[in-house]
Amino acid sequence: MTLPTRDTRVTYPDGALTTTTEVVHVAPLGDGGLAVITDTTSFHPVDAAWPDQPADAGVLRTGAVAVPIRDAVVAATDGAELFLGGDIPVRKGTAGWAFLVAHLVGDDAAIAQGDEVQIESDASVRAALSIGHTACHVASLALNRALAGSWSKPAREDALGSPDFDGIAIATSRIEPNDSIDTYRLNKSLRRAGFDTGAVADDLLDALAATIDATLADWADQGAAVRIERDGDGLTDRRYWVCEVPGGTARIACGGTHVAALSELGRVQVRFELGEDAGTPVLSMRTTAHRDH
Ligand SMILES: [Zn+2]
Repeated sequence: MTLPTRDTRVTYPDGALTTTTEVVHVAPLGDGGLAVITDTTSFHPVDAAWPDQPADAGVLRTGAVAVPIRDAVVAATDGAELFLGGDIPVRKGTAGWAFLVAHLVGDDAAIAQGDEVQIESDASVRAALSIGHTACHVASLALNRALAGSWSKPAREDALGSPDFDGIAIATSRIEPNDSIDTYRLNKSLRRAGFDTGAVADDLLDALAATIDATLADWADQGAAVRIERDGDGLTDRRYWVCEVPGGTARIACGGTHVAALSELGRVQVRFELGEDAGTPVLSMRTTAHRDH
């Protein structure tokens, strides 16, 4: 069976939940499941390099049968072999490689290359992850703004012109339904770059959170709109999250899914915690969108 030579086309960046498409490859997996690759998909997969947003939930319909999709991951092939997720040996976009969305299903699914299938993502799961992801981006911008006075040297700037604490210190980012958790390393290189880690001391964190919450409420009140811009419809074509906040347009490289306006987030609240990882102080920020308020 030949392997695809072109990236999977993706429609989820535009908000699509369903697509009718052709199966271009089916590969058996070591764990007894199958990886189903289609020409096009509306199903958001977890990224291999920066796995912040989990995969959608949903089904793949073939004839009258709805096959549950257990997970969806990025795959890549050089034409000879198929690699999944963390096993991909090259960087995304490497010439001569096709980057694919692999829908993982049980091996009892009767699916073959050439079949026409419908792919359906669950709307409520997608909406909750889109809310979590948009809230995560705006909270990071509001965090950078709140900490802008805590730098003694010029630092790289974020999309709105504040020193990019988020981009410089981030260690991990995880998107959850209506929620996200970012962790930041408060290490020596951050201090050498001019950041005063005293600004995120334990007794200042509640006030910092309140400042960020107020900024986010203000941006949402002013009707800030969100959109995705992209260079093409292939999985590896560059995509950007663009948000028109008062005083500027934020543009951040991002492959995830998002809501269309900050007003859809409801009241957004951040909470901080200090911890440590092998002796390095770590700040974590949990961002929660309370849609019911
Ligand atoms: Zn993102």
